[in-house]
Amino acid sequence: MLDYIIVGFGLSGLSFVEQLEDHNKSFVVFENASQRSSRVAGGIYNPVILKRFTAAWNVLGQMEKAVPFYKNIETKLGKQLVTDLPVLRRFNSIEEQNSWFEASDKPILKHFLSPDLIPNTNEALDVPFQYGKVKQTGKIEVEQMLTSYANYLAQKDSFVQSSFEYSELEIKESYVVYKDYKAKHIVFTEGFGVKNNPFFNDLPLVGNKGEYLLIKCESLELDAAIKSSVFIIPQGNDVYKVGATYDNQDKTPEPTSSAREELIKKLDMILKKPYQIVGQVAGIRPTTKDRRPLVGVHPLHQNVYILNGLGSRGILIGPTIAGQLYEFIENGTPLPVEMDIKRFGN
Ligand SMILES: Cc1cc2nc3c(=O)[nH]c(=O)nc-3n(C[C@H](O)[C@H](O)[C@H](O)COP(=O)(O)OP(=O)(O)OC[C@H]3O[C@@H](n4cnc5c(N)ncnc54)[C@H](O)[C@@H]3O)c2cc1C
Repeated sequence: MLDYIIVGFGLSGLSFVEQLEDHNKSFVVFENASQRSSRVAGGIYNPVILKRFTAAWNVLGQMEKAVPFYKNIETKLGKQLVTDLPVLRRFNSIEEQNSWFEASDKPILKHFLSPDLIPNTNEALDVPFQYGKVKQTGKIEVEQMLTSYANYLAQKDSFVQSSFEYSELEIKESYVVYKDYKAKHIVFTEGFGVKNNPFFNDLPLVGNKGEYLLIKCESLELDAAIKSSVFIIPQGNDVYKVGATYDNQDKTPEPTSSAREELIKKLDMILKKPYQIVGQVAGIRPTTKDRRPLVGVHPLHQNVYILNGLGSRGILIGPTIAGQLYEFIENGTPLPVEMDIKRFGN
């Protein structure tokens, strides 16, 4: 009898698995590569919403937890996965600069927004109103982390590359059975894939498609992520991710020509040197209407759980809410009401 079955291995699955590893619990993970949200993510952790200059939800606690969490994985896997990467917000006007100064004086934001204006020194970029710098930002190599972690789990026979078939799950009073596996609990962490899950597909997960272009530009030479109407995120070897788009209508997995055109248009407003497009990627963010995660226990089955709704900030949110779900299951610690799926009457 295992302690847990986990379905899905993106940022939410990985965050929960780390809890299990820390507490010496036995488990198996099923992953079918049907969703790509975590693998295509920009990998940026950034405590501030750069459109409105506000702090992200519960960000102080999440920041404290997230960076040591990923550094710990880095040590465990013996791979460099975390880099400090400055994030510079390009201002569009004097008014925007003033809003930034105002925001940088506010209680939480003063930890994160530098009040100084940073002049642009990069000839490749058009930046007429200078930059504001966000403090305590960085980048996680999410795709590399997921691949290495999956290999590490596979070596321990804890990773099964296959689709979880919901109709094969038998739920008993104090355990579940799935094919040859028996476990005390099952946790679904399928991101947007939860739409196919009969136990939780009534929850209001909206989904928001995001796409990045990958460009190569030798004369750009950036060592910071630039946020204008799009992010430009250095990937090494003169390659940059440019994006992302936000689309809550199209839920298809493939990259689109409309996103490509939109991103080229936005990029051309700031990048003044020639570049080549070398790739395009897409994924569906598991977003919710109220912008809060979907965490909790199934209303009828006490050993069936969900960890989802990480939205557009999975890197920071994942470690905290995975810890909260673990404490709820193992020690009965109540979940914060705003993330508990009970808020939808479940
Ligand atoms: C373009 C883009 C850019 C982003 N940039 C950032 C960023 O810079 N910083 C940040 O913090 N966040 C970013 N995000 C958001 C972040 O990626 C999400 O919050 C996060 O990926 C959600 O993780 P998840 O594990 O819930 O979902 P997913 O990553 O979708 O993982 C779910 C996993 O479950 C698997 N699965 C589903 N159904 C089944 C099944 N039946 N059987 C087996 N396996 C199954 C899927 O294959 C998938 O691997 C970005 C998202 C996108 C799309």
